[in-house]
Amino acid sequence: MLPSSVLKHIIDCHCHPTEAASISPDSMQQLQISVCAMSTHNKDQSLVRSLAHDYPHKIIPAFGYHPWFSHFIALRSGISKRNHYQQLFQPTPESSPDFEDLFPHLPEPISLDDVLQDLRSNFASSSSPPILGEVGLDAIFRVPYDYHASPRRISSFAIPLEHQIAVLEAQLDLAVELGASVSLHSVKCPAATLDLFNRLKRKHQDRWSRVRIDIHSCSMSPDSIKQLQACKSHPNIFMSVSTTINGRSRNLRSLITTCLPDKLLIESDYNAIEPSTSQCLEILGIVAEVKGWQIETDWKEEDTDGAVHRLEANWKAFLGRA
Ligand SMILES: [Zn+2]
Repeated sequence: MLPSSVLKHIIDCHCHPTEAASISPDSMQQLQISVCAMSTHNKDQSLVRSLAHDYPHKIIPAFGYHPWFSHFIALRSGISKRNHYQQLFQPTPESSPDFEDLFPHLPEPISLDDVLQDLRSNFASSSSPPILGEVGLDAIFRVPYDYHASPRRISSFAIPLEHQIAVLEAQLDLAVELGASVSLHSVKCPAATLDLFNRLKRKHQDRWSRVRIDIHSCSMSPDSIKQLQACKSHPNIFMSVSTTINGRSRNLRSLITTCLPDKLLIESDYNAIEPSTSQCLEILGIVAEVKGWQIETDWKEEDTDGAVHRLEANWKAFLGRA
């Protein structure tokens, strides 16, 4: 274990501590690193806000609406629950017996306007610079009956990528307006992700470079990351890795090798606070080994080549504070 003088400079840049049934004051007391806590749907934005309020030196809040819950969002207000889901889902509900089964499990949709208003007020209430997350696109997700049930029963319905893009683009427009940092989920859709970045660059011109984007638990190929980070239109593309998600991938080491050294971050992507530190230390070890960086055994300001120094500097750059 590293000394606390080093641990306090480690940032878990993407995790979901409010998904655990409860967070004990004990585990928060024991936490020696900082974590960026994601929100994902309309029920957990306030949980993240109050956790950050209670532990301002350890929790950095991120507010955003995840693609896995984007079917809860209606692009226009006033649409009935039944019409909303019937018009949205693929395959069309008429052709699938699942729909009537699933329907009672679905909440009343909330409007995209309400989502954006909620984000604005959470960003305004937060003392740190705005972080939008977790947001993104997912080409393989299927709607579950109950996300929190275990085992999770999955329906045959997908959320069309166009809908996910509309929800994401509205949130990214807000990120550009506020100069925010973004924690982005992008699964099995590198082309759609790049298309969206290109469109946003055309739409926002120079203002697009105000936004910094972390492709979290990056599942893109090393080639895709290389192209993206070499592209002058998108100067602020960071990438973070976790053992939770990336640990299973044969690509992990080549991804780390390929990523620009000043655009690399680490995360646990854990849904509880307790394993966050050990998960971060594990991925830190892999990053340090692949990049040939030393892990500091005590903290000296001038030791700027150390792995923890570098990753902390990357985090500050991601926040726009470098
Ligand atoms: Zn996540």
